[in-house]
Amino acid sequence: MSLIVKKFGGSSVANAEKVMNVATIITDEYKAGNSVVVVVSAQGDTTDDFLEKAAEINKKPSKREMDVLLSAGEQISMSLLAMAIEKIGCPVISLTGWQAGVTTNSVYGMARIKTINTERIKKELDSNRIVIVAGFQGINKYDDITTLGRGGSDTSAVALAAALHADKCEIYTDVDGVYTADPRIVKDAQKLDDISYDEMLELASLGANVLHNRSVELALKYDVKLEVKSSFERVPGTTVKEVKNVEKMLVRGVTRDNDVATVSLVGVENTPGKAFKVFSLLAKGNINVDMILQSIGRENSKDITFSVPLNQLESAIELLEENLELVGAQKIDSEKEVSKVSIVGAGMVSNPGVAAKMFEALYNAQINIMMISTSEIKVSVIIDKADAEKAVKAIHDKFFNHE
Ligand code: ADP
Ligand code: ASP
Ligand code: MG
Repeated sequence: MSLIVKKFGGSSVANAEKVMNVATIITDEYKAGNSVVVVVSAQGDTTDDFLEKAAEINKKPSKREMDVLLSAGEQISMSLLAMAIEKIGCPVISLTGWQAGVTTNSVYGMARIKTINTERIKKELDSNRIVIVAGFQGINKYDDITTLGRGGSDTSAVALAAALHADKCEIYTDVDGVYTADPRIVKDAQKLDDISYDEMLELASLGANVLHNRSVELALKYDVKLEVKSSFERVPGTTVKEVKNVEKMLVRGVTRDNDVATVSLVGVENTPGKAFKVFSLLAKGNINVDMILQSIGRENSKDITFSVPLNQLESAIELLEENLELVGAQKIDSEKEVSKVSIVGAGMVSNPGVAAKMFEALYNAQINIMMISTSEIKVSVIIDKADAEKAVKAIHDKFFNHE
């Protein structure tokens, strides 16, 4: 007998028929003699709809109230799913994040799980019930509801699997695994049988939203066996694990992230300490700076450009403008119409020329590169947002169809 955590995303429970389908997957596992804990997301576009509803009333609502609203989506789906399982005739109970013992820090909208008290879940499992837990939510030290950031139900599932020492954690979604690129953009993307935690973490952090990046981080830290699979077709998915033999895997995936923006500080005084001042100011403001580009100083002035998550652009600019004297720039420019396109692969560290091949693909597609950054297992470029899909296709074609 195994303990299995199964997570179902919004598209898997989008309507009554899909809820019944998911209920069958769960009860089949239960009837085979296994203990099952289920994490469920809000149905279909519910979370987006809630965001729109809020914006109709208040463009800048408090993050606390936003979390109260957003967490309601998961509460709807958990109860509907429990009703579907009741109908099949299996014992089941649904629990909110706090009922399931999930405590988080107090960063509303982007909370991190701190502890999970599994007492209640264990009690229900001991009573032979299937336990359904609302994903994406927890409770903070003020007894307020918090949410974990968009896509956070994956993280709820992995955290529960770790806390319960589950035998495996299965993430069911609308694709049957992790592909070499988003199969919605690249029609001939290939499904991967397995992928290493490190590569998956990079892909997820660089825009492949098939898994929430925090969920991969936790899976790595607590050694959780993770599988991404389809809730519509019963076929093997992609296993995320420690993959040792990386020699041949030059590039495992191409991805794009549209949620980025760039900020340029034009005409910064060309003296020591400017970068220090700018980036410590941004760090204090909790702005996540990613790529940084500094031009060579000429005539006592230089330009510094950097990228930030799109949702932090306004705060970054406000902060810089408030401290314009300290920053010492003549002008602050920003650009929202950009995208980050990346290749990821653990094998590239020992293979020179990978970046050049990516740049060649972009050149052949006549796409201009604005910024570049590299690490041992990834190369990222910032380009025009309008070119992002074309770039992903061209790069994918170069690495996967012309080798
Ligand atoms: P869920 O609602 O189940 O959490 P998501 O929409 O969050 O589903 O994630 C699944 C989607 O991730 C897929 O529909 C696919 O378009 C997208 N995706 C992006 N990159 C990849 C990739 N490399 N492999 C598979 N899917 C990807
Ligand atoms: N419902 C939340 C969202 O749409 C959480 C999730 O789906 O994982 O972001
Ligand atoms: Mg998701």
